[in-house]
Amino acid sequence: MDRYYLGVCAWCGGRLGIWGEAPEQIIQGRQLRYCREECQRDFGRDIVESTRRIDAIMIADQAPYYPVEVSLLTGRSLGSQPIDFVWGNRLFRAASTEEQSEILADPARFIRILDRHVVAAQTPTYGMPRKCPVQGDILPSDAVIDIVVANRMIRVCCGRCVLAVKARPYQYLGMVEYANRQAGQQHQSDIRSP
Ligand SMILES: [Zn+2]
Ligand SMILES: [Zn+2]
Repeated sequence: MDRYYLGVCAWCGGRLGIWGEAPEQIIQGRQLRYCREECQRDFGRDIVESTRRIDAIMIADQAPYYPVEVSLLTGRSLGSQPIDFVWGNRLFRAASTEEQSEILADPARFIRILDRHVVAAQTPTYGMPRKCPVQGDILPSDAVIDIVVANRMIRVCCGRCVLAVKARPYQYLGMVEYANRQAGQQHQSDIRSP
């Protein structure tokens, strides 16, 4: 599953870190972080409703990055009313409640499938193909690893950097998104002025 990747509190939406070390918690197999103890306590007052709220935020955040328009199970169209749901801080789409149950019965398998789709879809436009967001330049001798957090690809130079990204995903996601935007703008201006 993905670590909690947002830079803001799962309860109040305030910046993490402004009140000191952000407390974290595992709820229903999923990691969450809060700006302070009070927010963790308030989140826990109605876990069903609190989870529904943070799920809606993650669905809206990850939807633009979702890599395929077809079912992960059948490869066929998701239909007009796909079901968006979050498992382990990751957005999934299913064509039906039956498909949703099937994904939830073996989420590790479907995360691997989703990861492969994300890397395939995002590699061509990835903004920092020769730079690791943790270490800097990627050397020809590095064993490059493409990992996925919140349906975004991040390329790192080694296993140690995988751990660094997983420990502070919000920091590295920000760097990659900036590079992706820059690369996108460059691509646009190349098209306009050949
Ligand atoms: Zn908070
Ligand atoms: Zn590295």
